[in-house]
Amino acid sequence: MKAFKTLDDLSPAGKTVLVRADLNVPVKAGKVTDSTRIDRLIPTLRELASKGAKVVVLSHFGRPGGKPVADMSLKPVAAVLEDRLGKKVVFANDCLGAPAETAIKTLKAGDVAVLENVRFYAEEENDDPAFAKKIAALGDFFVNDAFSAAHRAHATTHALARLLPSFAGRLMEEELNALNAALGAPKRPVMAIIGGAKISTKLDLLNNLVTKVDFLVLGGGMANTFLFANGTDISASLCEKDMAETARVISATAQKSGCKIVLPTDAVVAAELKAGVATKTVPVTAIPAGTMVLDIGPATIRQITAQLETCKTALWNGPLGVFETPPFDAGTTALARAVAGLTQSGKLLSVAGGGDTVSALNHAAVEEKLTYVSSAGGAFLEWLEGKELPGVAALKS
Ligand code: AMP
Repeated sequence: MKAFKTLDDLSPAGKTVLVRADLNVPVKAGKVTDSTRIDRLIPTLRELASKGAKVVVLSHFGRPGGKPVADMSLKPVAAVLEDRLGKKVVFANDCLGAPAETAIKTLKAGDVAVLENVRFYAEEENDDPAFAKKIAALGDFFVNDAFSAAHRAHATTHALARLLPSFAGRLMEEELNALNAALGAPKRPVMAIIGGAKISTKLDLLNNLVTKVDFLVLGGGMANTFLFANGTDISASLCEKDMAETARVISATAQKSGCKIVLPTDAVVAAELKAGVATKTVPVTAIPAGTMVLDIGPATIRQITAQLETCKTALWNGPLGVFETPPFDAGTTALARAVAGLTQSGKLLSVAGGGDTVSALNHAAVEEKLTYVSSAGGAFLEWLEGKELPGVAALKS
């Protein structure tokens, strides 16, 4: 039995369907600068509209702190949604009361409305049941298509799902299926590739992964801390020395669980972090004094790639070097292309997520070539930590 209902289980003709979306897109000077989240929502909205629903979109936008803030209105976002959908979108300048009710009354089957930012009410972030009840009164069904907001127990991601018959939208369904294929019930061996600056921000994630995956490849700044914990002199590299004992505990847990931690064996180092600076490639056992590890080296890339070729599943979060500053993007880009190549040839199921990771994959021009790239940041990370996401739990039948 499915853990949650999807649009396949919903007959929405003539009904008002409240869709929780994540329209929290980047906006500069009133213009949407990246519409990925809007684009990914379109299949759910089109499907509901084509089945004759009156579609009412709810979302948060920014952090207005529980009161109306003009800059955080969803109106300009609704205009982009209208453009992407290719049909008129009615905008209500309040998610409750007369503006919302009037807008919904004007809808005919197949029409779409967007209600103003739900975070203009403090009750939203407080998961307030009375507020959720007022929102529930606006519709007949609830569809949650905001996986990226599912780590928050807020009124429209959590309480609302308990008040109306609730369903996962297509994007939510796609995210949950991809994550399940990568970590829930994956084909083995599974490799997790984890990079980024620090281990202190990813402790829960590392502790969970070492009990679940066969290979844990570490890169980026966090690998320095593990190398340091093993007694390697990492010179001037970014390192959380106070986390050395934690790194040793994680390594011991990995060993007990049969997870092999793969650390860099060589590195690209430089005396300063600057584009085009003079670099050296050295074994990690011979990092020159006064230099910093800023990327994994070519021998490490070859080793990881060879190991990856033996795997059936790969999960990726975090860059393996300072990819924003060339040439320290080379390791991340090379590995991204290896993951993409194996995925394209049908040998690997690959799932990646997290803000920097998506930028790094874009930078390597392979975003479309992985099995799935999650549009969620915090929710993706919390899911990697093994936490049950309140927004997902509330959908379970
Ligand atoms: P996170 O948000 O923890 O995933 O960290 C991402 C950041 O880690 C990126 O901005 C990278 O530039 C940075 N990073 C990756 N490798 C290193 C490294 N070797 N030294 C310092 N920073 C790094």
